[in-house]
Amino acid sequence: MIDFRSDTVTRPTPGMLEAMLNAPVGDDVFGEDPSINQLETMSAALFGMEAGIFCPSGTMTNQIAIKCHTQPGDEVICDKLSHVYLYEGGGIAANSGASVRLLEGNRGRLTADQVREAINPEDIHKPVTTLVSLENTGNRGGGSCYNFADIQAIKEVCLQNNLKLHLDGARLFNALVAKNETCKQYGEAFDSISICLSKGLGAPVGSVLLGTHQLIKKARRVRKMFGGGMRQAGYLAAACIYALEHNVARLAEDHAHAQMITAALVKKDFTGEILPVETNIVIFAVKGRYTAPELAAKFKEQGIFVIAISPTQIRIVVHLDIHPNDVAKTIEVIDSL
Ligand SMILES: *Cc1c(COP(=O)(O)O)cnc(C)c1O
Repeated sequence: MIDFRSDTVTRPTPGMLEAMLNAPVGDDVFGEDPSINQLETMSAALFGMEAGIFCPSGTMTNQIAIKCHTQPGDEVICDKLSHVYLYEGGGIAANSGASVRLLEGNRGRLTADQVREAINPEDIHKPVTTLVSLENTGNRGGGSCYNFADIQAIKEVCLQNNLKLHLDGARLFNALVAKNETCKQYGEAFDSISICLSKGLGAPVGSVLLGTHQLIKKARRVRKMFGGGMRQAGYLAAACIYALEHNVARLAEDHAHAQMITAALVKKDFTGEILPVETNIVIFAVKGRYTAPELAAKFKEQGIFVIAISPTQIRIVVHLDIHPNDVAKTIEVIDSL
């Protein structure tokens, strides 16, 4: 089976399992897990940020950040396709009591002008705009990457209007590798950053929220309240440390594999619009002989798992567990359909 459904399907490698087995652990709710402390410190240092907190999921790191940055009744600006809005179970409303101003971005990316126009004026009728949440890479944008200058322009608008800026960086490392950018640039631009180690970096579980000491102190309280305070979770943190140390640079291979698959798809009559492939995600429209679910079923008959994300679109996500021979086999299957 070749599984392109998500980059979350990876299994720990022998090296990662070895690191987990040897991890020193303690009770993290008491702040005594050396492996978690190491992961939090090293990720904060990587981004030049003050502190970090380890959480079981990227949904939790995003939701904690939003809760820390807002008061009930406040408004959060984000793209209409953003994970924080679309795929976190209504968490912004349920956890933070905040409303959302959805913007129509370009494949998930907002501009400074759009953000500026969406900020509510000082008016007792309107919710108070307090937070902007960006996503890089953009999942529903097909792994789209921001130009860093656009992020800086948004940051300027936030500074001028006293707004906090959060980054859902579930796949930030894909963007960094694709655009040849650094963690530190991002650490300077954002008030909080969520990174996922369980996506392309291949850890079984784990996300880290980064921010100031003050923010992360508040985040520890919220994490406990959300039920995310774990105990000897250093076994998981060790996998995350291993992922950061070994699996970042190799993301370029995934991106190359995504390009090879795209080149095969382009030749087919059933392929409609393909979103520009910038990283490890390929989203393409299906037309003519197949609907998207029918084409997904055809792939499945050949042992290849993809997702029909809409009646007309298929998503393919390349990751650590997709080897070059899997890519060759997939291209063979595409050629044969
Ligand atoms: C996967 C993902 C998350 C976090 O998802 P979890 O499954 O909760 O870890 C957050 N944002 C984006 C864009 C994602 O793709």
